[in-house]
Amino acid sequence: MTDSAQPILPGATIGFLGGGQLGRMTAFAARSMGYDIQVLDPEAACATRPVASRTITAKFDDVDAAVALASECDVVTLEIEQIHPDVLDAVAARTALRPGRAPVYIIQDRIRQKQWLKAQGFPLGNFVAAQQASDIADAVREFGPCIAKSTHGGYDGRGQVRLSTTEQGIDAWTALGARECLVEQKVDIHYELSVLVARTAAGAVAVYPPSRNHHTSGVLTWAVVPAVISDDMVARAQTLARNVAERIGIVGLLAVECFVTTSGELLVNELAPRPHNTYHHSERGFATSQFEQLVRAICGLPLGATDVHAPSAIANLLGDVWLQDTPPDFTHALNVTGSRVHLYGKHGAKAGRKMGHLSAVGHDAQDALGRVLESYRRLSPGTIASFDVHEPVLAHITS
Ligand code: ATP
Ligand code: MG
Repeated sequence: MTDSAQPILPGATIGFLGGGQLGRMTAFAARSMGYDIQVLDPEAACATRPVASRTITAKFDDVDAAVALASECDVVTLEIEQIHPDVLDAVAARTALRPGRAPVYIIQDRIRQKQWLKAQGFPLGNFVAAQQASDIADAVREFGPCIAKSTHGGYDGRGQVRLSTTEQGIDAWTALGARECLVEQKVDIHYELSVLVARTAAGAVAVYPPSRNHHTSGVLTWAVVPAVISDDMVARAQTLARNVAERIGIVGLLAVECFVTTSGELLVNELAPRPHNTYHHSERGFATSQFEQLVRAICGLPLGATDVHAPSAIANLLGDVWLQDTPPDFTHALNVTGSRVHLYGKHGAKAGRKMGHLSAVGHDAQDALGRVLESYRRLSPGTIASFDVHEPVLAHITS
């Protein structure tokens, strides 16, 4: 309906499309600020339920359910981009939808997102949209090793197939459901960064310092700030992310995932129009957490400061932690000075499922990362050994 810049003040109700851990942590922040919370999620026992006054159990293509949510909320946001466009339209017709339909629509399809970024002139690795198995094989012939990705619904490295020979094209095509997919050249990554940007409907923007991130088999293992990279790269990454956020017209948060290649190029990997796993350390190390910042941005309040108060790091806790022979040792883990445990209240640990994270603050980035990984080692030595989590010497990465 309206996209007025009029502030939505504490006491109002915020609706969430999606009730996973991102919704839950944003809801905690919103509650602290005096907002009421309602949530729509396909799972009745979703992670946000304990923080919400009302939980609507419905799929993300259920227009009637979305209308029921919108009719009681002053503003609706989302924590997952796979929301049916009809639902986005129905919500936007009744209340403020932030972010709006346009950026979500662009981002929710990997091919559409890449093509948009390319059309805007943002730096990307090579990619093609494959319409048939032979297109995947052709991409490998042209680019060498590639990663084929499903257009919708992939996360944490799911819906992706890595391939290095043309013969693997058919298997990749079949594994991704024999439908249109994105094929990217495998980038020679020196390191990975993300930059989080907040923007209000009135156009105020706050850019966080880049986070340095490490993935194992396509899943985020740890993230740390400051990134311990050159001032020049910090400035380049922040400018890039700000430009993308302004161009796409985000209202709320936009996370820009980036690769820095071995030849020093800065490339966009992908975008997320919501809070991001790589900024969970913002609850510990920043003047304003990403969750509070999202609330401020969608409610048209002044954006909070994005300075790093304390170097901070997180390590993800996947379901694997609970599937070891020995249960997680929280007491031992929390004996690491500066560490904290965050659990999402999810039922049913499965291998690879995000169940929580550990965080730590330290004297510098290396110290914070060392502490969080030490806490992890104490919590679940078996998991950390099987994931082969390495601890880099951050100070050596200056390009
Ligand atoms: P997430 O949900 O964690 O953001 P995702 O499932 O959306 O992950 P991507 O961000 O596309 O997947 O990929 C996850 C990780 O896999 C990247 O952070 C990177 O480590 C690796 N990766 C993805 N694409 C490429 C590429 N083209 N070249 C090299 N590595 C890649
Ligand atoms: Mg990603």
